[in-house]
Amino acid sequence: MRRSELFARDGYACVYCGRSPPEVELSVDHVEPRRLGGDNSSGNLVTACRACNRAKGGKAAWAWLAEEPERRAHFLEHATRIWPRLRAAILEAASK
Ligand SMILES: [Zn+2]
Repeated sequence: MRRSELFARDGYACVYCGRSPPEVELSVDHVEPRRLGGDNSSGNLVTACRACNRAKGGKAAWAWLAEEPERRAHFLEHATRIWPRLRAAILEAASK
């Protein structure tokens, strides 16, 4: 999936915080980082603003969002195109 297609799919807004910065401030985020085995499939990719992407760092989305309830709530409402197993991992990590 091309960057432009991903940004359009997500409405040019960060799935974590909801901000719609200028397109140059948007980035592609891997819900499951590549270093943990995540791939470049559309269900593993979301649009993130640079601030959120930087804050998330190398963590998996579920590990980061377990500590970020507002961003988690926004993500669960808006990142509806990710793979179900990733969504389940986020809900599971948040329930601990
Ligand atoms: Zn953001």
